[in-house]
Amino acid sequence: MYTGPISPDCATLVERAGFTFSNPNDREQLRSGRITRVIKDSAGSAIGQGETYTITPQLCAMLNALASSGIPVNMNSIIGGHDIHVAGTSRTSPHIQGRGADLEIRNWRNPSAADTEHNRRLGAWLHTNRERLGITQIIVNQPYLNEFNYNEGKGSGTAAFPNGIPAGHHNHFHITTRRP
Ligand SMILES: [Zn+2]
Repeated sequence: MYTGPISPDCATLVERAGFTFSNPNDREQLRSGRITRVIKDSAGSAIGQGETYTITPQLCAMLNALASSGIPVNMNSIIGGHDIHVAGTSRTSPHIQGRGADLEIRNWRNPSAADTEHNRRLGAWLHTNRERLGITQIIVNQPYLNEFNYNEGKGSGTAAFPNGIPAGHHNHFHITTRRP
C-alpha cells in the first residue's frame, strides 16, 4: 500500500466543476487524500472501519486531468463498496491500494442518444490519454464501449481481457493507475 505523501491535486480535486459522487464518504476521502476501508459482515453490512491508506499521487493526477477535460463525471467509488481483495480472487484490489476509481456509465440500463454520446466521450478520453496519465487498466463491459477496454501489456478492446471482460463492469468504467 502507498503510505507516502498526499498529492496536493487531491485536496483541490473535489472542488472542481463536473465531479459528483455516489458515495458522499468518497468525496471526503478524496478531499483528505486518505481512504479508510469499511469492514463488512458476511451479509455485506458495514460493521466497522479498517485500515487507512493514502490515495496515490498518480490517481489524484489522473482525476485532476479528467476534471480539466470538461467531461462531467460521477464517481461511483474510490474505495466505497470495495473489499481488500478483487471479488472472487486473492489479489489485492487497486481500490484498497488507493490507485483505483470507478466512473459511472450514465443511465447504463436505458441510455438516451445523449447518454450514449457522453459515455463514449468519457471512454474515448480515458483510452486516448491512458499512457500520459499512467492508466494501466480500463475495464468496461458494455457492447458500445468495449473498444475502450485496456490492459497494459495485453492491448485494447475485448482482446485486452482474453478470458473475457470481468463481470460487474456494466455500469462503470474501472480505472487502475500506475503504482507510485
Ligand atoms: Zn473498480
